[in-house]
Amino acid sequence: MIHAYVRVCCTFYCQSYGAEGNRSMGVPGEDLAGVYSAKDFVGWYNGLPSCRELSPDLSCETAVVLGQGNVALDVARILLCPLDILKSTDITQLALEALAESKVRRVLIVGRRGPVQVACTIKELREMVNLPDTRPEMVAADFEGVQEAVNDLPRPRKRLTELMLKTAMEVPGEKEQERRKKASRVWGFRFFRSPVEVLSDPDHKRTAGIRLAINMLEGSGESARAVLTGEVEDVTCGLVISSIGYKSLPIDASVPFDSHRAIVPNIMGRVQQATGLYCSGWLKTGPTGVIATTMNNSFDTARSVVEDMDSRRLDVSAGKPGSQSISALLDERGVKPVLFSDWEKIDALETRRGEAIGKPREKLLTVEEMLLEARK
Ligand code: NAP
Repeated sequence: MIHAYVRVCCTFYCQSYGAEGNRSMGVPGEDLAGVYSAKDFVGWYNGLPSCRELSPDLSCETAVVLGQGNVALDVARILLCPLDILKSTDITQLALEALAESKVRRVLIVGRRGPVQVACTIKELREMVNLPDTRPEMVAADFEGVQEAVNDLPRPRKRLTELMLKTAMEVPGEKEQERRKKASRVWGFRFFRSPVEVLSDPDHKRTAGIRLAINMLEGSGESARAVLTGEVEDVTCGLVISSIGYKSLPIDASVPFDSHRAIVPNIMGRVQQATGLYCSGWLKTGPTGVIATTMNNSFDTARSVVEDMDSRRLDVSAGKPGSQSISALLDERGVKPVLFSDWEKIDALETRRGEAIGKPREKLLTVEEMLLEARK
């Protein structure tokens, strides 16, 4: 349908709707109360209308975050961050109130591979290490052989691994020792562990722990693979947040989609077998990279469009109705689009509401409220 519409109405069309889904663990117990996807948890504290009702149960002491990417570290930090710091961010008031009552004091960030393979960046790790009122709790055995390997690592990975080694293995200076002694909250990486089953309480109602398979590594460096040893370990926890990556979803049967890689198959943003269709963002590359990576990737797609216009791969000579026909169709169907100027009204209201309570913004949490403001 989309593709047919592109042919009639516009010369080209670029899809950039991101990665709305998440990879699932595929283990028993995943549906128990107390298990959340990072996508939903992040959506909840960031004020995504669809996650407003999540109301995560934060009544346990230990939380396990599965995955060791930047999202996992974001989640761990939110769970442990002192309220005074959170209060001056744009976190929703709803999340702030729930976190004020939270009993979570220990967060374990679990990865299937080793310290040399963590997916987070040094910036995020540094923020975790420096988070006030927390101290690290690592397992020395996980770092066996890492010191010896560190000098051969590529530079960004080397600096990240050095920070991890320092945090896990070095005896800190007096000031840092004092800070750690006073800390009321604990975080730590757990390596070489894959989720096997979320364990339930005796009533089979909610999460009581997680069974982890113990892995060893096959190969070395970033491409090393986790291989099961056959041993397992149970960790007691009341909250499990699965942060093993996001996933794009197909939007329309007429647009090619690679279900295995969860991307729109493309070459430099040109959707394969669909002239006139382009893609950018996580839909194009999969859910990797920081904002700058995604931005540069989108510039590449724009470059492909310009090249195709110049080389006449795209026929720009034929006049097409473009947005006019789309507006007419929306009108006919009674759909009122939200324009940039409408969004600016929502932005202004959120900013005003935030200012009143010392925050950069206080977000509107329902689409109804947003539309009400937009249409004023
Ligand atoms: P990610 O960086 O891809 O990390 C995913 C983590 O999940 C990895 O540790 C991965 O381990 C693990 N994992 C994947 N499949 C697994 C499985 N089946 N079982 C166990 N573990 C599994 O994803 P992300 O943290 O969701 O972040 C997505 C992107 O957004 C990243 O590029 C990230 O940098 C970016 N981001 C950036 C920021 C920031 O800059 N502040 C904040 C949020 C997100 P393996 O390595 O073994 O696969």
